[in-house]
Amino acid sequence: AEEQIRRQDKLAAVGQMAAGIAHEIRNPLTSMKGYAEFLQLDEEDEERREYLSIILDEVERINEIVEDFLVLAKPKAVQLTKQNIIPIIHEVLTLMEMQAEHKGVELHFVCEQTQVIAQCDRTRLKQVLLNLVKNGLEAMPNGGDLYVRVQEAETICISIQDTGIGMTAEQLQHIGDPFFTTKKNGNGLGLMVSFKIIENHHGRITVTSERGKGTTFQIILPLERSK
Ligand code: ADP
Ligand code: MG
Repeated sequence: AEEQIRRQDKLAAVGQMAAGIAHEIRNPLTSMKGYAEFLQLDEEDEERREYLSIILDEVERINEIVEDFLVLAKPKAVQLTKQNIIPIIHEVLTLMEMQAEHKGVELHFVCEQTQVIAQCDRTRLKQVLLNLVKNGLEAMPNGGDLYVRVQEAETICISIQDTGIGMTAEQLQHIGDPFFTTKKNGNGLGLMVSFKIIENHHGRITVTSERGKGTTFQIILPLERSK
């Protein structure tokens, strides 16, 4: 037992360090982004504008990785409050509209209620939904359909279903492992972070997938009962 405690202390120390570094990386990134955007404003050369776009995209990528690390390093970083999750889902789908259209993917939102109240951290839940919707789009290189459904019964269930490439049993076993990715430009952090965030919401995520048919992720959250 002593050995285990020491291991946890060490993990906590590493986590704190990661959070500290992640925090420090954010400030210079913000100014890099600001200046690159500024230069892009009156850049007339097409090619140079393109280079600046690449810089901005890459800065954004680092930002996402840093954000993910902050969540992992500070597991108690969620702040749960009563929220209607429907507008949160709308926001996420609006954010992804362009990318979906570009890929020939149709987005569908299915929910009978206009209000579903859950105890959640708005920013973090949004991060999870973005991760899952992004993964869904990335699984449909030749287009398809992405369904987001919300059902309220004994629990709240948000499902994200794609008609994409699906996963093998082997892949299914490894999702959520740190750095597990099958993508050329993936980092394999998205699902690990998403699982962690939903765990901090006292919920869970389940997955079913069939090769060549598609994948469904379900986010299960406890019902917020009115007291
Ligand atoms: P990344 O997207 O950077 O690869 P994730 O943690 O988000 O990292 O996903 C890990 C892996 O899980 C992906 O590389 C892919 O192999 C698999 N995966 C996740 N979502 C899906 C999906 N909707 N369809 C097929 N495979 C998926
Ligand atoms: Mg991903």
